Amino acid sequence: MESMMPSATALAALADAAGPGNATSDPNVLSPHLADWRGKHFGQTPLLLLPRTTEQVAAIVKAAAQYGVALIPQGGNTGLVGGGIPPADGHVVMISLKRMNRIYPVDSGGMTLRAEAGAILSDVHDAAAGQGLNFPLSLAARGSATIGGLAATNAGGVQVLRHGTMRALVAGLRAVLPDGEILDQLAGLPKDNRGYDLKQLLIGSEGTLGIITELTLKLVPEPEARIVAWAGLPGPEAALNLLRRLRAASGGQVESFELMPDDGLQLVLAHAVGARPPLEGRHPWHVLIELAGPAALEAVMVEALGAAMEAGEIGDATIAGSAAQAAALWQLRENLPEAERRDGPALHHDISVPVAALPDFAVAAAARVETAFPGSRVMAFGHLGDGNLHFNVRVPAGPDGVRWAGEHGPAVTRMVHDLVTEAGGSISAEHGIGTLKRADLARLLPPARLAMMRAIKHAIDPQGLMNPGKIL
Ligand code: FAD
Repeated sequence: MESMMPSATALAALADAAGPGNATSDPNVLSPHLADWRGKHFGQTPLLLLPRTTEQVAAIVKAAAQYGVALIPQGGNTGLVGGGIPPADGHVVMISLKRMNRIYPVDSGGMTLRAEAGAILSDVHDAAAGQGLNFPLSLAARGSATIGGLAATNAGGVQVLRHGTMRALVAGLRAVLPDGEILDQLAGLPKDNRGYDLKQLLIGSEGTLGIITELTLKLVPEPEARIVAWAGLPGPEAALNLLRRLRAASGGQVESFELMPDDGLQLVLAHAVGARPPLEGRHPWHVLIELAGPAALEAVMVEALGAAMEAGEIGDATIAGSAAQAAALWQLRENLPEAERRDGPALHHDISVPVAALPDFAVAAAARVETAFPGSRVMAFGHLGDGNLHFNVRVPAGPDGVRWAGEHGPAVTRMVHDLVTEAGGSISAEHGIGTLKRADLARLLPPARLAMMRAIKHAIDPQGLMNPGKIL
């Protein structure tokens, strides 16, 4: 990749295209945009653009194409793979979408919501809830992540089991392509077979094919009841059996099913203020379950958990009796990444394997990594029904953890990604590739798929100006 510093003339043209008051080089304004949430990726930029309309974005991209200036879009900067952070040499100009955060009135008949790409996920939730509807994608970063960033990374979260990732939840979008042309597919037609689905190319492209400026999102009715339960069980195989049982009993109304080892629960109890054990006694593994639908689902949950207990599949279980109890159970799950971070350094891997292979993978791959790297401790938790684990490898206990991670981290990650690939899985389940996984994508993706992705990138962005150095 050639990295030419933009000329003063080019920067002035870009600032002009952004519109009055929509460009800055003030280091204090730039600084929060130049480091990622985990503090692992750092970059530089000569200019930050903050457009307010799609037309301004199009004018910026046209000027960038004319002067050969590379651009990087950023939303809430909660991405976890370095995709929204510019390179350190400072040759890429940033476009923040955060001023484009309008949310339009909900279309109750069509059950859709149209909003600009910079709209914050929790604001979208609130707007839908105001009409008795729900945008069924949630994650711990919902107070900062933008719907543009969520679409650009094809984000998942805790309801994918029932509602799918952003690919399933975006009905339409508007985007500015690398030549400055506007791709308008906002209508969100449920049926539209006019050839290739171009919006799906933009979803999950991490800013490398264009800049998403508006989205039409699919909504679902807010369920009458949400029944939340916690179960302690012997292992991931038992957890998968319980998921099958609950899916059959509820007619497919399992909305979330989160798996966590007891080590994880103990970390949360040690580090999260006010956290209380959900069950009496200890169990090797745990699941957090949410059913969503008619209030009668509570009886379904009681019966299914009772039957699972009788069959010896689970050791113990509790059902939240109030919204506060449900929130407390969810806190135990949502506090796990933070508790793990407080406990010490870990090497993070967001991976997926075929669902049926997950129970074996969670145990066997952990054992292989721990044997190959004595003292390391695997913490595999996450979205069991999606085959998606956050397969984190905690460094050996003691004062040398950071040094150990620096020394062994690349080999640990290589081993985890090799094991995932052997199991027919993916080295990125929901966070994307960014810069973090770029080398392993090139190493492990089947060559035909990689070649097709490169051909698409070259056809749409022949100058290579859209978020260079990311994914490919
Ligand atoms: P950014 O971080 O700003 O950008 C992410 C990528 O998208 C970058 O490559 C950027 O260039 C590109 N981009 C941003 N906006 C646009 C746009 N408008 N057009 C084109 N490209 C754009 N992810 C999950 O899938 N599931 C989870 O459960 C989950 N939990 C998380 C929990 C926490 C605490 C955190 C911090 C992150 C979590 N994530 C999770 C990561 C998730 O990918 C991001 O939260 C979200 O998808 C990114 O949105 P953002 O607006 O912050 O995007």
